[in-house]
Amino acid sequence: MLLTITTTHQPATDLGYLLHKHPARCQTLSFGFGKIYIFYPVASKEKCTVALLMDIDPIGLIRRRRQGKMGIQPDQYVNDRPYVCSSFISVALTQAFRSAMKGHCEKRPELVDTSMPLQCKISVLPCRGGERILHDLFEPLGYTVTAAGYGLDSSFPDWGNSPYYTVELSKTTTVSQLLNHLYVLIPVLDNRKHYYIDENEIDKLLKRGEGWLSTHPAKEIIALRYLRHKKSYMRQLLERLIETDPEDEDNTTNSREMSSEEIVETQLNLNQIRQAAILSILKSGNAETVIDMGCGEGNLLRLLLREKSIKKIAGVDVASRALEIAAEKLRLEDLPPRQRERIQLLHGSLVYRDKRFKGFDAAVVSEVIEHLDPPRLTAFERVVFQCAHPKTVIITTPNREYNVMWQHLPPGSLRHGDHRFEWTREEFKQWAQNICRRFNYEVRFLPVGNEEPNIGAPSQMGIFTGKNDETIE
Ligand code: SAH
Repeated sequence: MLLTITTTHQPATDLGYLLHKHPARCQTLSFGFGKIYIFYPVASKEKCTVALLMDIDPIGLIRRRRQGKMGIQPDQYVNDRPYVCSSFISVALTQAFRSAMKGHCEKRPELVDTSMPLQCKISVLPCRGGERILHDLFEPLGYTVTAAGYGLDSSFPDWGNSPYYTVELSKTTTVSQLLNHLYVLIPVLDNRKHYYIDENEIDKLLKRGEGWLSTHPAKEIIALRYLRHKKSYMRQLLERLIETDPEDEDNTTNSREMSSEEIVETQLNLNQIRQAAILSILKSGNAETVIDMGCGEGNLLRLLLREKSIKKIAGVDVASRALEIAAEKLRLEDLPPRQRERIQLLHGSLVYRDKRFKGFDAAVVSEVIEHLDPPRLTAFERVVFQCAHPKTVIITTPNREYNVMWQHLPPGSLRHGDHRFEWTREEFKQWAQNICRRFNYEVRFLPVGNEEPNIGAPSQMGIFTGKNDETIE
């Protein structure tokens, strides 16, 4: 993973003072995940480029990690981490350029506040949510952004684009400001973090975001992704940003936009409403065995465990880390044996046939289909409706028509960086009815959340019932 910063400030080699790294030397630093090499491919009066090469050791990564409750999974060995710019770069930046980030320069203190033309090039940057989000994050900060994307696999053009880009960011600014922007926004674009976060992360984000985050138009998305989608942390952060932002005092209450608070509240309520709707459908149909497909961190599983009438529960997810967190949240290891026997977590994919998915009264697929690449949907449909073939399948997915209600969402963009699509009510209906014809199910639809005239509710639910079998209503 290579990141370079170039300046044409005169004399350009001043960059070396600011970074506390002599242009004539190549330096090697060890950090917990591998090695960082810092060197200057160009260092003249006119132009100076510093390169940070991060060499992540994938085997070391796994050895460092406490083996999770799910054991070591193959995707922990084979993944993109060594090759892309991710949250590891934030750690590397603080190790390599700590003083520069803080704005300290003993030898040439006047340089700290000097704005200079800077160009940062990142060899491979994952932008989950596509190129658009890259522009939405950096352009409001005054950067000129260029990005070259790559197809997922040139042999299969219909698989579409990969999330990886080669990116150039240019701006006349201070080195410290650039480093702090990169520190925060690279993990936001990648939308994954290599470490488990706690409340200290809010302080870190406030510190690195000082002077720019509170007025950034995408601050909710930045906060949500940076804080690993922990809504309570996001809410705390937004409250503290408002406290520290003098401009907010001028905000009048008759502003048309929803406040950050309302956005979070809306989303929180929506999760609860969705889960309550799912539970009531399962209960009214007397489902005794339930599989939560794409269970994520196990929020629904926790509620299912509380329902005594449900005898057997399974949660399946493709992300082993999500399952580890689910196991922790559910305290699986501490459950008494009879409870423990009721639930199992399965590492698996919904686009591959799997015998373990069979034999359940009901399957829940909540907010998952929009994470699947469209060419994979046919496989998903067969796996769920033909192979697993439960009596009832409950599928929820966002209603794209409702996105206009969320003012923080730029027009046309999707709600989550990893969503591959979001459907209108009509699109969902067409898809669901096609499934019913092919697999002999019938479907009814329910809105999830408050319905608005003409655009519907924020989320939509399809309840599929197998026609030939004993059905649950
Ligand atoms: N159902 C949960 C989580 C939704 S997030 C809820 O309603 O809160 C989407 C989840 O789907 C993620 O945990 C993701 O890892 C999982 N997922 C995405 N693609 C998948 C696949 N092919 N097979 C299994 N799980 C998948």
